[in-house]
Amino acid sequence: MTGPLRDPRELAAATAADRRAHLVDGLTAVECRRCGACALVRKSSLAQTSIQWTAEAVHRCQAYLASTGCADLHGSIDAAVAAGRLPVHGG
Ligand SMILES: [Zn+2]
Repeated sequence: MTGPLRDPRELAAATAADRRAHLVDGLTAVECRRCGACALVRKSSLAQTSIQWTAEAVHRCQAYLASTGCADLHGSIDAAVAAGRLPVHGG
């Protein structure tokens, strides 16, 4: 790609694609309330949570552990579910 997008329709399409990226496979971006790192989360049931950490989020979260992720993020996920911001698939 060279130069900026000039056609506003192209810009709108790029923005829409950006938004879709957060919804692929039912993934929702959830922000850690402590560090602000964004992980992609999918809940297939209340008990089952898939979390995809991006390299950037791992870098940003100081509480991140490879085994458990970030405890604060888990709290943020629960809050997002309670607030209706994170859909739970399959009930
Ligand atoms: Zn964190």
